Amino acid sequence: MRYVIALDQGTTSSRAVIFNEKGEKVAAASREFEQLYPQPGWVEHRPEDILNSQLEALKEAVEQSGIDVNDIEAVGIANQRETTLLWDRKTGEPLANAIVWQCRRTAHLVDRLVKDGLGSIIRDITGLIPDAYFSGTKLQWLLNDIPGARDRAIRGELCFGTVDSYLAWQLTGGKAHVTDVTNASRTMLYNIHTQQWDVRLLRMMDIPPQLLPTVVDTSKVIGMMKKEILGREIPIAALAGDQHAALFGQGCFESGMAKNTYGTGCFLLMNTGAKPVVSKNNLITTPAWRIDGKMTYALEGSVFMAGAIIKWLRDEMGLIASAAESEEIALSIPDNGNVYLVPAFTGLGAPYWDMYGRGLIIGLTRGTGRKHIVRAGLESIAYQTRDVLDAMALDSGLTPSLLRADGGASQNNFLMQFQADILNTRLSRPNMVETTALGAAMLAGRAVGLWDDEALRALDGGQTEFTPTMDGEQRAALYRDWKRAVKRAMNWVEA
Ligand code: ADP
Repeated sequence: MRYVIALDQGTTSSRAVIFNEKGEKVAAASREFEQLYPQPGWVEHRPEDILNSQLEALKEAVEQSGIDVNDIEAVGIANQRETTLLWDRKTGEPLANAIVWQCRRTAHLVDRLVKDGLGSIIRDITGLIPDAYFSGTKLQWLLNDIPGARDRAIRGELCFGTVDSYLAWQLTGGKAHVTDVTNASRTMLYNIHTQQWDVRLLRMMDIPPQLLPTVVDTSKVIGMMKKEILGREIPIAALAGDQHAALFGQGCFESGMAKNTYGTGCFLLMNTGAKPVVSKNNLITTPAWRIDGKMTYALEGSVFMAGAIIKWLRDEMGLIASAAESEEIALSIPDNGNVYLVPAFTGLGAPYWDMYGRGLIIGLTRGTGRKHIVRAGLESIAYQTRDVLDAMALDSGLTPSLLRADGGASQNNFLMQFQADILNTRLSRPNMVETTALGAAMLAGRAVGLWDDEALRALDGGQTEFTPTMDGEQRAALYRDWKRAVKRAMNWVEA
């Protein structure tokens, strides 16, 4: 039996998952690491925590599996996106903590770019909506803040990278300074059409090109993991942003195929094929992956509050004892009692992009009870997903015939059925829920010839399917009232 290891370097933990050649999971281990909040709105990780937690998880998974390291064909990396690192090209020593994607410290730098009228240029070149999430202004901030850093960068002494790039550099012992197209596209410095770092954007953010990694295919051997780690050199054969890896792991290989990850928030990605679709509805245009030099694009939309609503109902409101209980409660009443919960706790994401919206519960009557509010919370996750999928259909003309679900809240059967009903689309949930890790493993396995495209399609661990049963009138009425509720929640905070 041959094996592939996926490293899934996430925001709060690092995971390693080992798959055999049938695509079955044989072992997994994870390590949490510390989140640093040096100031309100700032988030950092220690680079050594990222690396060490990842190495420990890797070694533990290998030990647990009992496999012979000689049978490991490749390692694939999936990673938290946009998080920004800067290190010394000679020693590998980081110059600062990693600035995590969530960190808002560069909001003023983004505001300045937008005020200078560069918003639409950034949109056109990068496919992104200008935001402090993306790496560009984080790197700009590091180069401004660390004395002498920009001069050293110009002299070629420094390396910038996102987490994929940093891990690749560390695991190959400094031999590879690379990033893949999915990660490069989250920097706000990369032209997704020409597939080059963009000179104009680099100039706008005052970033010397000498410190940038080489951009490579998503599925490709980029170097060997050094012998010291597992006792044998092993090819590192894939780098991919976590959401892109999940899209691949869910088997969304064709244009019009889509997945939604129901975690804290929702991340929806739809494969749009070989040509990028420019969004008119506030979605992000992004590479899905690049394989054999051929780019596949996707549309991406995110919802800020999804599973987090259920956590809020449990921890802040005390309406449920566990997240799982929300399913039982929702099923114990025939409908939502005309109650809608708009979870605009931090504003609204795609397709609304309203930073001034705030949360709202509306439709309360004397007959309303806690069960209605819990159900309204779950329903809101499904309505928000429809909002994003409708926007994707408008932009691309593509409507998926099946939505592939994963993430913690996808365990909720009420939510999955209601989602299928409100979309009037079939929905499937894989039995093997680690789609991000599976995607990284599949991308790596393909690069070393363990699987060809046909074999990848056959790696199917089975799934549960949900088929819409709601009648059209009811669907329309519910969704219309959701839209009315959203309107009332928007623009609440007076700027
Ligand atoms: P993340 O990776 O974003 O941390 P996960 O994919 O681990 O998130 O999912 C965790 C989220 O899913 C939590 O916000 C939790 O409230 C929600 N969740 C977990 N189980 C259920 C359930 N059975 N029903 C609804 N929500 C759930």
